[in-house]
Amino acid sequence: MTGLFRKTKYGIIFVLCLFLCMAQFSFLPGTVAYADEDENDDGNEEDSGDNKEEDKNEENNSGTSGSSSEIEDIKRQIEESKEAKEKANETKQQLASGMADVQQVIGSLETEKNNVVTYVATLDAAMEQIQDDLDAINVSISENEVQIEDARRAIEKAEAALDEAERVRQEEYENIKDQVKFMYLAGRSTFLEILVTAESVSDLLNRTHYISKIMDYDREKLNEYAEAVREADEARQFLEENKAILEEKQAALEEKQAEAEGKRDDMSTLISAKEAEIGQYNAEIGSKEEQIKEYEQMIAQQDAEIAAIEQAIKQQQAALAEASRRVYGGGKFVWPAPGYTRISDDFGMRIHPTLGVQMMHNGIDMAAPTGSPILAAADGTVIAASYSGTMGNYIMIDHGSDIITVYMHASSLGVSAGQEVSAGDRIGSVGSTGRSTGPHLHFGVRKDGSYVNPWSYLK
Ligand SMILES: [Zn+2]
Repeated sequence: MTGLFRKTKYGIIFVLCLFLCMAQFSFLPGTVAYADEDENDDGNEEDSGDNKEEDKNEENNSGTSGSSSEIEDIKRQIEESKEAKEKANETKQQLASGMADVQQVIGSLETEKNNVVTYVATLDAAMEQIQDDLDAINVSISENEVQIEDARRAIEKAEAALDEAERVRQEEYENIKDQVKFMYLAGRSTFLEILVTAESVSDLLNRTHYISKIMDYDREKLNEYAEAVREADEARQFLEENKAILEEKQAALEEKQAEAEGKRDDMSTLISAKEAEIGQYNAEIGSKEEQIKEYEQMIAQQDAEIAAIEQAIKQQQAALAEASRRVYGGGKFVWPAPGYTRISDDFGMRIHPTLGVQMMHNGIDMAAPTGSPILAAADGTVIAASYSGTMGNYIMIDHGSDIITVYMHASSLGVSAGQEVSAGDRIGSVGSTGRSTGPHLHFGVRKDGSYVNPWSYLK
């Protein structure tokens, strides 16, 4: 290998790394330095034999703003609140299901009621028909009554005419009797006797046959009057018969009327019963609707309770967040590569031996064999456990107070983002992934957004 080749090689690596690192860390505020690129195997052979176990773990180098019992308290409160909310939700579900049942009952009541309402509508139509029929019958009866009255008057007139005819005939008869009396006043007493004792006109006429010649005129007259009487009587009888027919018709009409009235009354009773049924349905529906209102009120109360619990949970969670806000305790970090203390590349600006340029190394490289453990330097939350082309498998842990530790080139990762870790927890294994020339752990510390010298926390 010639120096020129090495120079070119480093130049390329440097530029590439600078570019990649800037891209890689652009999401971290205030970052500029290059991540890493190591060649710890070349020339640095001061071995890796010094396995002094690092002092560690016992120090509480990280903590939270609230005491752990306070945090446990809040967590328990949150659990209780969540349980209360769960119960309130269950109650609400039960209420909603009860309300749905009542709504179903209302639905079927409405259906039944509507059936009756429809039935009543057909009954009303039938009732109207019955009433129309009855009205027609009543009109017929009225008309018939007028006819009967007319007939009665006609009969009265006929009777008067008959009486008159009778009277006229009687008068004529008396006249004839007087004439006969006069004609035979001086005659035989027996004849007079006959005249006087005659029981009837025909009897008299028969008995007085011998005087018929004289009486012809009178007799004709008497016959005429008798005929008039008979005719008058016939006329009266005809009218009487007519009236009887009308009265028969009236009776039939009244029977029909009674029948129609019976139907009307039955129908009316039925309609009333059905309307009473509708009334009962309405009352039942009304009471069910009252129940629905009660349910709605109870559900609203439940909602209010749930909202209050949710509000409480929010406050409790805010309190928890406040209490558990991580604060770095200020203690010494755990040595992240236990047993391996040889530093193959230290933190800081250095003039590269072959390139002759100043380069910033933003962490310290701990030479360690592949597969040896990487430990969390302090309590914290894993905020990244991923892979990048330069950093390889890397992990970042937030320790609070704006302190973040960075571990690079791991052969494998043992944690994932979001996980809580304690100081000394194994978080991965040493490797040479990413831009690395040999197995080692690059350990970096960021404070307030910038890389700082890790030794400040390790010594
Ligand atoms: Zn490094």
